[in-house]
Amino acid sequence: MSEPLKIDIARLMGRIEAMASVGQIEGGGVNRLALSEADRDGRDLLVEWMQDLNLQVTIDAIGNIVGQRSGSKNLAPVMTGSHLDSVATGGRYDGTLGVLAGLEVVERLDELNVETRHPIAVGCFSNEEGARFAPDMLGSAVYQGSLDLQSALNTSDADGCVFGDCLDAIGYRGNATVPAAPPHAFVELHIEQGPVLENAGITIGAVESVQGISWTEYTIDGVSNHAGTTPMSMRKDAGYAASALACAVREIATELGAPQVATVGALSLEPNLVNVVARRATMTVDLRNVDDAILIDAESRVAAVVDRISEREGVHIQSRILARFQPVRFSESIVRSVTHWAERLKLSTISMPSGAGHDAQMFAPRCPTGMIFVPSRDGISHNVREHTDRSDIEAGANILINLLTELATEDY
Ligand SMILES: [Zn+2]
Repeated sequence: MSEPLKIDIARLMGRIEAMASVGQIEGGGVNRLALSEADRDGRDLLVEWMQDLNLQVTIDAIGNIVGQRSGSKNLAPVMTGSHLDSVATGGRYDGTLGVLAGLEVVERLDELNVETRHPIAVGCFSNEEGARFAPDMLGSAVYQGSLDLQSALNTSDADGCVFGDCLDAIGYRGNATVPAAPPHAFVELHIEQGPVLENAGITIGAVESVQGISWTEYTIDGVSNHAGTTPMSMRKDAGYAASALACAVREIATELGAPQVATVGALSLEPNLVNVVARRATMTVDLRNVDDAILIDAESRVAAVVDRISEREGVHIQSRILARFQPVRFSESIVRSVTHWAERLKLSTISMPSGAGHDAQMFAPRCPTGMIFVPSRDGISHNVREHTDRSDIEAGANILINLLTELATEDY
């Protein structure tokens, strides 16, 4: 058995450092909102690096950038990649790690004169975060055909700036067609963005699945009245109804047990005054599970509670679905390969679900797909304090180079 391949961690950290200076904000983080000038500058740097590595660079109609290293055969590429866009107060590793680790894999394979049958492609997908344009994972969704190009281009941000116009403004509307053909396989290296690996003292997460997400907004209309003179029996209290729903949502998650989670993250009252019964409450419910059947059960339990509260308190409750993504299962053979390479490299590993959405999930219905997680200090992400240790980055990138090379050497 030949020795596992190893990446050059100093070079990878150098690129991460250089990219962190693009859109840099106080505290060591970045602000590279999708299609902003900082996003453009990050893309420019990436394209320059890809050209230095003699990759064949293509930019498609939604602004995804792909750099491809040739294989010995003209086959579908094995693909890796992630995103360079960030939330407004983002960290330097979310997404960036997956793109730059891909470049490091390519450069290292060149140095070692490793030839693969399949080409290896590194992708950088537009608007993964969804912090400026909805939905999130927009670029990868268009790339693999689950979102229509024209509707994605027509999406506008909170200021009314249309995606297609913003893409033109930064010069990244390319001519490669979407949807693109599915790759031979897709693997994404990403920081965990949660506390599981760190708490367990584990270096590598072999990601088995991505949670399904169900977001609903509720608008509760009651009757505004005097807090002192209105008898309790005569109230139609939107504030009370919202609170009752929030408590019920928590109980539903507890009843269903882990891994079901439920969150009321936004709640506002009108008129929001100390001595007035609220006439309106607006709130959101976020439900997530890796099992779609249980997620559907949670949704129907919440709906039943909504009906009961509406009837009991005499309030009118309107619901609006904000997002619904089904859970995604990754390729079992890629999960096994991640574990295999972790063992070969003497790294601790566990199989785990992802709590957050990622570009990889858009590939899962179209080709064998997987993800590698590395620990996030204190589980913190979408924050300038986001941090992953150098040794963990090295470990994750070492899994990536071996896995991509293995997949790209496959005889079909
Ligand atoms: Zn990300």
